Amino acid sequence: AKREGRGRVRFFESEMDQELRDRRLLLHDLRRALEQNELLVYFQPQARIEGEVIGFEALLRWNHPTRGFVLPDQFIPLAEENGLIIQIGEWILREACREAASWQRPLQVAVNLSPVQFQAGDLEGSIQRILLETGLAPTRLEVEITEGVLIGDFNGALDLLRRLKALGIRIAMDDFGTGYSSLSYLQSFPFDKIKIDRSFISNLEATPQSGEIVRAVLSLARALSIPVIAEGVETEAQRAFLTREACEEMQGHLVGRPDLIERYLDLVGVTVER
Ligand code: C2E
Ligand code: CA
Ligand code: CA
Ligand code: CA
Repeated sequence: AKREGRGRVRFFESEMDQELRDRRLLLHDLRRALEQNELLVYFQPQARIEGEVIGFEALLRWNHPTRGFVLPDQFIPLAEENGLIIQIGEWILREACREAASWQRPLQVAVNLSPVQFQAGDLEGSIQRILLETGLAPTRLEVEITEGVLIGDFNGALDLLRRLKALGIRIAMDDFGTGYSSLSYLQSFPFDKIKIDRSFISNLEATPQSGEIVRAVLSLARALSIPVIAEGVETEAQRAFLTREACEEMQGHLVGRPDLIERYLDLVGVTVER
């Protein structure tokens, strides 16, 4: 390795090398994560704005043997690049549906779908199989998609969404307002729910623009008769704002953090000890 003078460049390069090496290591580990039972499903409650819990969003967690908990933002992009997300996505779908089917209260369960799951594999078939296997009513399943799903094979994705909807599954548009074309997608598909991105909610107190944007999204959604859930609601002040603006639902630390379902057994109506 060179020293002095070009040291800065060298440092930069070796930092990139290190990042690459790290990614390769992580990828290597991720391939085994499923077999080694290192992946977990966390559940985060979704509630009516008045407080009643109506369902849960399933969120992936990776309990890595040496790194500890790795957050999805750190490994999902990796899993998407090499297609592992197909298996992982099917796994969490099955786990989430199995779990929800065991609840005494017929709450809904929401599962995130990656754009890659629309492009490869047999998403419709695997969802149908999982619903049959677990006995979960399709009407209790909601899938959350981002606009990334509709980039690429737009018509193919729309077709698939329509078929899922025909099965009785609800389709939510996730991270609404963060993409380039959220609005145009609203005219292409009858979404069952809009999830206002967390960034607008967390800035409610700090920037007046966020409040105006949330108001505008709510009024647009009302005009289209699409219910809205606000993500990342952490404070009573945020909830009060959303109540005033007639937002129907909320999700966030104020209601509950993502956790193992054991923490929420009282809400789902499971009385037996597990
Ligand atoms: P997302 O779908 O937008 O999920 C919401 C994220 O916001 C979650 O982060 C959740 O823990 C976090 N969150 C919820 N309430 C609050 C709050 O009040 N305050 C703050 N600061 N954060 C809150 P998480 O679990 O780290 O997931 C990050 C992203 O990873 C998800 O964003 C989703 O895009 C992706 N992801 C997670 N699980 C899956 C999965 O099973 N499949 C796919 N394809 N993507 C997943
Ligand atoms: Ca989501
Ligand atoms: Ca989201
Ligand atoms: Ca997000």
